[in-house]
Amino acid sequence: MLTGSCLCGEISYQVTMESNVDAIIFCHCQRCRKWSGTAFNSAIVIKASEFQFLSGQDTIKKFSINGVNRHFCGQCGSNLFTSRDNNKEFYRLRAGTIDTPVDPKQRIHIYADAKANWDTICDGGTKFSENIK
Ligand SMILES: [Zn+2]
Ligand SMILES: [Zn+2]
Repeated sequence: MLTGSCLCGEISYQVTMESNVDAIIFCHCQRCRKWSGTAFNSAIVIKASEFQFLSGQDTIKKFSINGVNRHFCGQCGSNLFTSRDNNKEFYRLRAGTIDTPVDPKQRIHIYADAKANWDTICDGGTKFSENIK
């Protein structure tokens, strides 16, 4: 079980997953850089059916481009998760919004070739030049 919240605290959620976090995915693509405002985006893949809002669901706003929907707090702007039109079963939850300790077994970098030239990947995680399924 994971719980998390946005910066202002209006939105909180839980993820009723049984196991701990398998992998954390760092996306270095330009869209994620813009959305996160920093070098890369950190996410874990969760089942949409295991995600529930505990508060603030009405405050969620959505920005959609190329079939990817970015869900964020309309009050403080915290990025919470993305959903995909072509894969509705899973969300990519923004790891920085999780309040529960997580201990991912794997660290995966995607779009590693597109990373910012001022960023250095040095954690020994697995690198992919593009996305993974
Ligand atoms: Zn907020
Ligand atoms: Zn990305």
